Amino acid sequence: MGMTSTGKLSAGVLEFMAICDQCKRPRNTGNHTKCSKIRQRIHAAHNQQCSNARSMQRGDK
Ligand SMILES: [Zn+2]
Repeated sequence: MGMTSTGKLSAGVLEFMAICDQCKRPRNTGNHTKCSKIRQRIHAAHNQQCSNARSMQRGDK
């Protein structure tokens, strides 16, 4: 939950959203709590790399 479905999504986006990128199962099937946590960690690590690079210029946060 938390996502609004407007019906405006294209088929490609819808297909991407419907399949979990971690376990490759349909997102409306099974439990993807761990998958979302893995994804968040990946994003967090990626953002941290970016912020580390920026911190050289902008300082902490
Ligand atoms: Zn999953």
